[in-house]
Amino acid sequence: SWLRICSRLKGEVGEVEYHTWLTKIALGPVDGNEITLLLPTRFLRDWVRSQYGDRLSELWNQEVSSIRHVELQVARPGDPAAPVITSEVAAVSAPTPAPLSPGLPADADDIGRLENKNDIAATLDTRFSFDNFVVGKPNEFAYACARRVAEKPSSVGFNPLFLYGGVGLGKTHLMHAIGAELLQRGNVSVAYMSAEKFMYRFIAAIRSQSTMEFKEQLRSVDVLMIDDLQFLIGKDNTQEEFFHTFNALVDAGRQIIVSADKSPSDLSGLEDRLRTRLGCGMVADIHATTFELRISILEAKAAASGVIVPAKVLEFLAHKITTNVRELEGALNRLIAHANLFGRPVTLEATQDVLHDILKAHDRRVTIEEIQKKVSEHWNIRLTDMSSARRARAVARPRQVAMYLAKQLTSRSLPEIGRKFGNRDHTTVMHAVARVAELMERDAAFAEDVELMRRMLEN
Ligand code: ADP
Ligand code: MG
Repeated sequence: SWLRICSRLKGEVGEVEYHTWLTKIALGPVDGNEITLLLPTRFLRDWVRSQYGDRLSELWNQEVSSIRHVELQVARPGDPAAPVITSEVAAVSAPTPAPLSPGLPADADDIGRLENKNDIAATLDTRFSFDNFVVGKPNEFAYACARRVAEKPSSVGFNPLFLYGGVGLGKTHLMHAIGAELLQRGNVSVAYMSAEKFMYRFIAAIRSQSTMEFKEQLRSVDVLMIDDLQFLIGKDNTQEEFFHTFNALVDAGRQIIVSADKSPSDLSGLEDRLRTRLGCGMVADIHATTFELRISILEAKAAASGVIVPAKVLEFLAHKITTNVRELEGALNRLIAHANLFGRPVTLEATQDVLHDILKAHDRRVTIEEIQKKVSEHWNIRLTDMSSARRARAVARPRQVAMYLAKQLTSRSLPEIGRKFGNRDHTTVMHAVARVAELMERDAAFAEDVELMRRMLEN
């Protein structure tokens, strides 16, 4: 059955990849519903696990249905199972030498570039500069540190600079901004790489037997930036290599800048000594955005686009899309593109329409049905009256409140809301929303009722 799995794998991944990675696998013991596969090095084990782990489990389970789990381990010398099976594998896979052309599944382009070796210079994204980074409370510290390092790399206390924070909060932006600034001042060599690329390059260097050159290149830069270091969790060999590079550079007085999604101490899965060293310089947290910062970012981007976006629309976006600046930006860009394309002014209505799908994903997940249910319970009317044609005040008012809340708490458009209330017209919904808002201004007790309702629904 292992032979069949091998030949299926070979068919799926192709000769090159198969010979490069998979012929090194040896069968280990079977224990209950788990089979152990053995690999000669930790590096190979990690690679096979990350690239083929799931597929191996699937194939094994198809072949031997009692096997539920495939465990990948590093073979110890003298492992009893290893020799027997290796020969079996060797029988399937004619022992052709592994070709040097990359059989890596991802980012093949990049490896191609690496294999012309002498290119380690930073490819910086010119869209990201200090000038267009909007500073606010949540990021001012990280921004200040980044500026400082760009002005005076390798100063005491700022090396390494460790930037961390959630997705889409500006880590990569700041790193590119530092790079751009440094290059503009001239006379420094800057290398920027995601940790993932770092690993691919490292692997490619091993395979083309050019690790020395790779190391020399890395160690010859003045400033090395590695983005998204969390990627190296579980990639022990690459971590090891990074650690040595890191030490060599810092010892030689070069600047290192690293980003990650967590603080050094929270990056469990990174080697302790690496975490310790990462925390030795300046550690700067980029916090989640505040409403104010989101508004400032939107204002800046809208202004740069030349399209007039009403404050109401910006507030709406800042209110709806809260976690990730990239998505906020994407939403605004779509609005702007739309406005340019159709030459129509940006309005709140148009926004809800154009961004329908994005807003839906950011809905606070209150459904119109829930709103209707809660509101009818509260005012003691029948749920069916939410869609009925009855106009008695005792029924009509709660119905209007439900429409108002649907508008506030979901990203449904007016026509959509109308449909859920017995196919009413969107102007009816609009009227209801305005009426409720007006009543809330005049009647404090009513306003309190509606607010209470809203809070209950939001939780
Ligand atoms: P991260 O690397 O932290 O995941 P990025 O740096 O890629 O996030 O930022 C995501 C997007 O949001 C980028 O387009 C970036 O320009 C933008 N962005 C994030 N923070 C800011 C900010 N404070 N000012 C302007 N743009 C920002
Ligand atoms: Mg990033």
